[in-house]
Amino acid sequence: MSQKVRVDDDRFHDRCGLFGIFRHGEAANLTYLGLYALQHRGQESAGIVTSDGEKVRCEKGMGLVNDVFDDKRLQALPGDRAIGHVRYSTAGDTVAENAQPYLIDCHRGPIAVCHNGNLVNAATLKQQLEAAGAIFQSNSDTEVILHLYARSHKERLEDAISASLTKLMGAFSLLFLTRDSLVAARDPWGFRPLVVGTLGDATIVTSETCALDLIDAEYVREVEPGELLVIDASGMRSFRPFPPEPKAQCVFEHVYFARPDSVVFGRNVLESRLALGRQLAREAPAAADIVVPVPDSGMGAALGYSEESGLPFQWGLIRNHYVGRTFIEPKQKVRSFGVKVKLNPVPSVLAGKRVVLIDDSIVRGTTSRKIVRMVREAGAREVHMRISSPPTTGPCYYGIDTPSKHELIAATHDVEEIRQHIEADSLGYLSHEGLLKAVADPSGNRFCTACFSGRYPVAVSQPEEWQLQLFGSHKQL
Ligand code: SF4
Repeated sequence: MSQKVRVDDDRFHDRCGLFGIFRHGEAANLTYLGLYALQHRGQESAGIVTSDGEKVRCEKGMGLVNDVFDDKRLQALPGDRAIGHVRYSTAGDTVAENAQPYLIDCHRGPIAVCHNGNLVNAATLKQQLEAAGAIFQSNSDTEVILHLYARSHKERLEDAISASLTKLMGAFSLLFLTRDSLVAARDPWGFRPLVVGTLGDATIVTSETCALDLIDAEYVREVEPGELLVIDASGMRSFRPFPPEPKAQCVFEHVYFARPDSVVFGRNVLESRLALGRQLAREAPAAADIVVPVPDSGMGAALGYSEESGLPFQWGLIRNHYVGRTFIEPKQKVRSFGVKVKLNPVPSVLAGKRVVLIDDSIVRGTTSRKIVRMVREAGAREVHMRISSPPTTGPCYYGIDTPSKHELIAATHDVEEIRQHIEADSLGYLSHEGLLKAVADPSGNRFCTACFSGRYPVAVSQPEEWQLQLFGSHKQL
């Protein structure tokens, strides 16, 4: 019998995208569109919560934004304020209960929350809360935030939220919705992005500026690391509840996660990717005929590499954009089916050529090897793999789904061993210094680069690391 199998795409994955809007007659519809623009940040569940000032309502489900929401479902969400969430989930937790936003009712009234990031002290906080009588319904770190909030006796909303958030360690970009207010918060390190925009009288807070562009909203500024914004009928107020920390914005947002048309951490992402490619061409030149991207992950860097090296950019691999994360595999064995269903080589472009193949990273090396083989079987004479980031040697604890350290090929193999494993004629990575230069942070004091450098800006204790491996960001993809 044919069976459904999971696509092995062997990459790091961002886990969530957020969109919130206050004071707009079409809050649910615009949130739906905003989430649609953020679909690349999570494809497995989508949800929207709205408030009309009296009632707070939630609709969510598994699937793409377009699958979860139709006219009828959006009409069931009246109100002029909303928050929404798209989520990437891992193998073990593709269930509707984990879809966000979470909506609860407590002594302060209803409140909904959605979260992009990962807490590194969630297990410890959860143990403390359970010892005090809390009952948890999921293994999600976001639920910890709601328990802390519900227990706060502070009177004002911003004080209750601040008191809860100051107990958290790790990465959090958060949106809360109550009957009357939209609240946005970003951790003091600024791991995950969050920006503010306006559309007429409406205020918007979202993960990336591409969500603003789709609805003709204007980009205003970032929610600053360590900032809490309260948006209500009286306007927008800014608070700084956290002690200051050195910035540690995720450099991988620029390397791969964010959409190239977005402005993230104050800089256009495509601009960064072109610069990464140019720097890579300077650091790791190749005697070759053409530059070919692994689409879409290597696109921007391949353009930059081509520009700097003078080698022509060619579409040697074509991507099928309509593949989900699972598909029905035929009974008849097809070699490397998981990669083939996503990518197809163009023999007339590749035949007889010395190819520089550009990608953003090598995680386990399995997919890279299949792609190198595919390019060679299509007739390429030589395949020179170039990677627009340094070797990924460690997992992420700050909201990115990654394999555990021992599964990362660069954690246990040097560059020559990886080259042999992926069967390339040569292999070159961007240096750590080159990465920082390309993202316009030569001193390295704005970005987290922990998965390349091993320097983790927020320490993770051993028991927490164990919990994270079980429930958090290192599940087998
Ligand atoms: Fe980003 Fe890597 Fe830091 Fe995680 S460890 S926040 S993926 S740079």
